[in-house]
Amino acid sequence: MTVQAGARLLEGAPIADEIRAKVALDVAAFARTHGHPPGLAVVVCGRNAPSMVYLERILKACASVGIESRLVHVEGDDPAAQAADLTVALHRLSDDRTVSGIIVQMPLPAGIGLKVVIDAIDPLKDIDGIHPLNAGLLRLGFEGFVPATAHAALEMLERSGAPIVGAEAVVIGRSPVVGMPVAFMLAKGGATVTVCHSRTRDLAAHTRRADIVVVAVGHPGLVTGAMLKPGAVVIDVGINLVDGHIVGDVDFASAREVASAITPVPGGVGPLTGALLLTHLVRAAQRQAAERPELVAET
Ligand code: NAD
Repeated sequence: MTVQAGARLLEGAPIADEIRAKVALDVAAFARTHGHPPGLAVVVCGRNAPSMVYLERILKACASVGIESRLVHVEGDDPAAQAADLTVALHRLSDDRTVSGIIVQMPLPAGIGLKVVIDAIDPLKDIDGIHPLNAGLLRLGFEGFVPATAHAALEMLERSGAPIVGAEAVVIGRSPVVGMPVAFMLAKGGATVTVCHSRTRDLAAHTRRADIVVVAVGHPGLVTGAMLKPGAVVIDVGINLVDGHIVGDVDFASAREVASAITPVPGGVGPLTGALLLTHLVRAAQRQAAERPELVAET
């Protein structure tokens, strides 16, 4: 008798469909109460093809659930002038009652610092959790807006059924948008968390004792099956283009033989990220309605 080896696949699309269906109901309810749906503004500095594909996908997802969305381009070649225009655009959107959430496409062009965004974006509209207020709320264990990708990694883990309380968790990557927020959420959830990064001496020594491994690096094949504890749950956040194909940071074939559950790339964390961003937008609209009714008042 042959026994089929291989970890359970944690697929994002079915969960994303379920989340979007719920968002569509929440959007309709919000529009009935306030006379307009929640609105998203996506701010892009310059024009570059790869990020445009991602943004078009977000705008399409908004349309599919009844959210109004707009793309705001900040053009120009001179960083100082572009930074000034970005500030004006973000102030305007922060004051616009039809805009419930704002995301700014990263990375920003050379010469424009994140501080430009931080200084101008309303934290209550910062649905991807880049503002220090939201990062600080997460750090202190309160409910702010967390980056959608980090949220997606956690959501996937929770839905996998893997126990988080008491688990040994290793997060590889310490960026403010993925690694660190994931680590804080796991610690809040009761895991014992180790954060590994580019200066970690012996990565495998850490991953081999982990019940949960979250990888967010941008390095294809970084984590192999030989580096995993049998039965580990593996969340691969990485997105890499190799020979025209999208792959994650985990060597899927070998990891699948050892892990109990694993996210595929593509098709794992990615689809969930976009769907969860929509839930953040609805929550932002609801919070603004509750905390600043004048901002969402019916005209
Ligand atoms: P980043 O470049 O900001 O951070 C990468 C992190 O990896 C750093 O903390 C660095 O110390 C660490 N690192 C680098 N080399 C390492 C090594 N050899 N061993 C251990 N750690 C190492 O990247 P990011 O923005 O956090 O993104 C990480 C990955 O996640 C990228 O592949 C990115 O494309 C992907 N991503 C996916 C989504 C999604 O929706 N699925 C969203 C955002 C980012």
